[in-house]
Order: sequence, then C-alpha cells, then structure tokens
Amino acid sequence: MSGLKEHPKILFRDRHIPGIRQWNVYQKAGGYAAAEQALKKMKPQEVIETVKASGLRGRGGAGFPTGMKWGFIPKDPKQISYLLCNGDESEPGTFKDRILMEEMPHSLIEGMIIASYAIGARKAYIYLRGEYTESQSALNQAIAECHQHNILGKQILGSTFDLEIHTFMGAGAYICGEEMGLVSSIEGYKGHPRIKPPFPAAVGFNKKPTIINNVETLAAVPWIIAHGAEAYRKIGTEKSPGTKLFCLSGPVHHPGTYELPLGIPMRELIYTIGGGLKEGLKLKAAIPGGVSAQVLTAAEADRVHLSYESCAEAGTMLGSGGVIVIPDTMCMVELMSTITSFFKDESCGQCTPCREGTGWMHKIVISILEKRGREADIPLLSNIANNLMGGRTICALADAAAMPVKSFVEKFSDEFKYHVKHKRCHLNVL
Ligand code: SF4
Repeated sequence: MSGLKEHPKILFRDRHIPGIRQWNVYQKAGGYAAAEQALKKMKPQEVIETVKASGLRGRGGAGFPTGMKWGFIPKDPKQISYLLCNGDESEPGTFKDRILMEEMPHSLIEGMIIASYAIGARKAYIYLRGEYTESQSALNQAIAECHQHNILGKQILGSTFDLEIHTFMGAGAYICGEEMGLVSSIEGYKGHPRIKPPFPAAVGFNKKPTIINNVETLAAVPWIIAHGAEAYRKIGTEKSPGTKLFCLSGPVHHPGTYELPLGIPMRELIYTIGGGLKEGLKLKAAIPGGVSAQVLTAAEADRVHLSYESCAEAGTMLGSGGVIVIPDTMCMVELMSTITSFFKDESCGQCTPCREGTGWMHKIVISILEKRGREADIPLLSNIANNLMGGRTICALADAAAMPVKSFVEKFSDEFKYHVKHKRCHLNVL
C-alpha cells in the first residue's frame, strides 16, 4: 500500500500511536485540549456556530447538518436535555464506528463532552449494538479513566460544567439504530420507532429534548474545535466538507475501513486504495452506502464520487459509507434474496406496508430462486417496492428495504427474467 497518495486524517489521525486507547497516551497526543478550549473559552452557542460553519453532516446515514441539529435544542438553561450517541452500527457492509470505539474511545468521549456542553446536556449515553461487547469494554475503561482525571463528573476540566457518560447495550436489533427506536429501547421499551414530529430535539429520551448523533459524527468534533471550521471546509467538497470513513468490502485485494476526503471518485477507492478486484473478476455493480442504498452498475460506479451530492445525482445515497463491491460472478437474484431476508427479519412489524411488504418481497425473490417464479413476479416486485412501501410508514426502514429491490430489478432485470424463463441462473451457479 506504500506509494499511495496520502489523504488528510481527522478521525484516524492518532490511530498509528501505540496505546492511544489509554487516557495518558491520548492526552500526550493533544487529547482533551479541544474540550478544554470549548468549555473554558467558548460559549455553547459559539460551539454550535463553529460546527454549523464547518458543514459537518451526520455520518450515520441521513447526512443531516450536525450544527443545525444541535441548534434545535431549546435554549433554556433550566431545561434537562440529553445527548445520545448512536453506536448501534448494524447496516450491512458497515464496520467503522466499532474501530473508533474500540481503538480510539477517548476521541468519541471528547466529542461527546463538547456536544453535551453545546446543547446543555449533563447526562449522555452511548447506545451500542448488542454484539459490540469489545466496544463497550473499551469505552467503559476510557470513561473510568476520565473520572480519575476530572474529565467526567463534576466541574470537569477545571470548568463549571458537569457531565456523566454511560454506555447502554442494546439487544442487537437493526431498528434500534433509528433514532426513535433507539430512544424507546434505552427507555426500556421495545425498540419501536415513533411517529415524528415531535422530533427528539423537542421530545426525546424521558420526554426531554434530546440530540442523537452517530459515533463518527461526534468523533470529528474535537478536530473541528481545535482547527476551526474553515480548516475543515478545506477538505472534501463544498456540499460535503471533511473526511468520512468508508468500509470497503467484497472481493477486492485490500478490503478495510479507510478515512478519505469526501468527494473522491469511487473508482479510486475500489481500484487504487482497495487494489482492485481479485484475479479473474470484473466489477458488475457496487453499493455506495450499505445495503439500504440503491445499487449502481459498473458504469455508474466508475463515474460517481463519494459525496452526498454526487451519490444523489446518481440516484443513490452515500448512507453509512459501506461500499460493497459486487463481482461479475455474483448472481443478483441471490444477492437480492440476502438483502430481502435481512429487512424482513429486521422490520419491527408496527406498520402493515413494511411488515407485509418486506415479507412479500422476500417470498417472491425466493420463489424465483426456487424455480417457481412467474413473469408477472418481476413487475410485482417493482410494484410493491414503488407503490406499497415508500413514504407510508412510521420510519424509513420500509423505504430502505424498497430501494435496493427497486434498483436491482430495474438495473439487472435480465438476470431476473433469465431465472424465471430458464429456471436457473445465467451464471450456472444456481
Ligand atoms: Fe417498524 Fe417498518 Fe414501521 Fe419502521 S417502517 S416502524 S421498522 S414496521
């Protein structure tokens, strides 16, 4: 991997330092200086304005401007408010937040201190997916170290601000990564999303104003405070400033998680950084932002840039940054069945279009794979995805389940038709 162009590092800036998981090493590397600066030299509104000016957008998938979200919290110092960090990383193809939590837990805690100060929260929680036991242990150890060094607790870092941070382990449900599903779960109820409005910034955890931010979003905040909004804006594109973690998976030579400036061409990630596809394989398709994003053909993947705006222009989304490489030896109907199975299992079942629609789509794809498919099943799949599911439910999971189906059937209809007509796969793999 030597000889590759060096890209600026913000989130992984200290990843190479041995022992950076420990407080003393993090502190020696300049850690907690940004939190101290914010707490002692800036007013909460100044912190919000700096983050707004940086253009930082939520890295969990939706890409909502972070500073604007913080600005929605009511400006009443007597009001109890909360910060919830969303560490329920479950989008298939996404494995970035766990690296931050396991290897650099203090940078997340520092980001949470600054965010809590900005929104006036005295209590913050990190919600973890049930399988992330290693993340919880790294974070709990880091939190304990912070208490020993007056970085959490009363009058932290020599300021007048008090803050407690706790970790909370979910039971491993995808829907708990949806913000109101997360709030319900942490309150002790089933992880069922609720209708918005009211938005959590007005009525959230314990019915109090609550800000919910992804791990990667919060971990970027200390650098922004230390270096300023303008420095952050110099990286990335105008509409997508800064860096982002991209998780590259599939049959490439160097799969992994890479921090890159937003806006780099997808082909640079796949071919230069990822080393290209393994011998004998060609790119058939790629998914840019986890399986909820619409699939791109090889030609589209070759043109698209990894920014919010370029992905939107290409009819897909940057989402979580989970880039999945699909080779020409992969049957798209089989791959579709894995995705429909996932969403069918993960629907919480509250809304009929989602509960029934995800199940119907999966049954149809399976019937095609099992040689029982009819010609009418292909338009039926599109009809369910286009007309039954989108925009009719409490949360966005129904849309997330419908989008890949829509794009797979539209862009790879030949493969679906071949299966129906010949009762087998054109690749002879099934
Ligand atoms: Fe549950 Fe699906 Fe409705 Fe979301 S859209 S609330 S996951 S049933």
